[in-house]
Amino acid sequence: MLNTLKAPLEPSLSLAEGLAALTTVSACYQCKKCSGGCPLTFAMDFYPDQVIRLALLGQEDTVLGCRTIWVCSSCETCTTRCPNQIDIAGVMDWLKEEALRRGFASPQPGVTRFHQTFLDTVRLAGGRLSEPLLLGLYQLRSGGTIAKLKSGALTADLSMAWELAKRRRLVPRLPHRLKGIKEIKDIFAKAQKQEKP
Ligand code: SF4
Ligand code: SF4
Repeated sequence: MLNTLKAPLEPSLSLAEGLAALTTVSACYQCKKCSGGCPLTFAMDFYPDQVIRLALLGQEDTVLGCRTIWVCSSCETCTTRCPNQIDIAGVMDWLKEEALRRGFASPQPGVTRFHQTFLDTVRLAGGRLSEPLLLGLYQLRSGGTIAKLKSGALTADLSMAWELAKRRRLVPRLPHRLKGIKEIKDIFAKAQKQEKP
């Protein structure tokens, strides 16, 4: 269900300034074409155009604590539709990282855990996604492995993974290491340095 603003406006420029450095966000004239094409608005608490507007108004707590930024799947439909070439999908990604950096509790903890596990997997696997590693790590971090084992849910998951592997929808092996592994490590190190408050 969509939210309406109830709290008084308490603007802070830092979020708007951070976004301004990222993309031409101030060019937004609220045409709502981004939200009109977004396939996931049904699960969002604010429409993408509202997130942009709230960020420009400096509503940091509302934006960084909202469900929308975690529901966004980075499909880039909004970015493609925006008449002002605003990279809305990029904004959503940036807001995710900013929310983590500032210690905001995620309203979608499973999605947040997946997001972090995905990046850790790419880092650990040398720049490529390892699906077995991703699934294993995600399961471990989600907890409840013993309970899932006892209830048979883990067996059902493994059986589904096996079916996916048979249909070549899941690659049950570690990926080849990239030649530019040093560059990948440097990118992660640089990003981690920037994440530090
Ligand atoms: S499509 Fe672009 S200009 Fe229109 S509301 Fe969305 S962000 Fe703003
Ligand atoms: S990138 Fe996110 S906000 Fe944009 S259309 Fe896709 S799901 Fe919606």
